[in-house]
Amino acid sequence: MSDIWADPQDRISPYVSTSDLREAMHTVIFGSVDFIGQGRPVILRELTDTVCPGCWSKNDGNSRISNCIYCQGEGYQFRERMATMVLFAGIAPVYKAGIFGTGQYPEAGFGYTDPVKATIYCEWNVFPNYERYTLPNNSSPDKLFEVKVDRFGNAVYDATTKQPIRTAKWKILSVTPMFGDHGRVEFIELSCEKEIIA
Ligand SMILES: [Zn+2]
Repeated sequence: MSDIWADPQDRISPYVSTSDLREAMHTVIFGSVDFIGQGRPVILRELTDTVCPGCWSKNDGNSRISNCIYCQGEGYQFRERMATMVLFAGIAPVYKAGIFGTGQYPEAGFGYTDPVKATIYCEWNVFPNYERYTLPNNSSPDKLFEVKVDRFGNAVYDATTKQPIRTAKWKILSVTPMFGDHGRVEFIELSCEKEIIA
């Protein structure tokens, strides 16, 4: 019996790399004894493919109500969770491999560029379903909210809603798994565009 879809899994070499990119990204985000973490708390809003029962209309070209109390204008039902990510606001999405957080478009030889774009990094396991974004087959982009932080960098919560206070909203344009040793996903890169909070 042979399974043509079986993964041969013969990629593990006896030569062990001295650096582990997953560990390195964990240090960048959360810090270590000799490195200050750069990660910030964010709210990840993951949209499902289920349309909002409150405002979605088939006959109306899937139109949405921007202040819909059920979906807040997304048009689809969603769930939200907290995550810790590193945000490089004002940096254009990376179009070329190797242009890493420079603050410049690959073509631009000068200056800082687009304030409504951001490149954001998170750990490899934040998007276990990354194929949803790389094929892609999601109905509408996920969103990411920056949240207010205290002087220690911890999220500040609203006393009434018990939710973190949101300060900026980003539309996630792409979710790109970055590969490393043994074909593993080492970290995830997001390209984002700012949205105005309604
Ligand atoms: Zn709605």
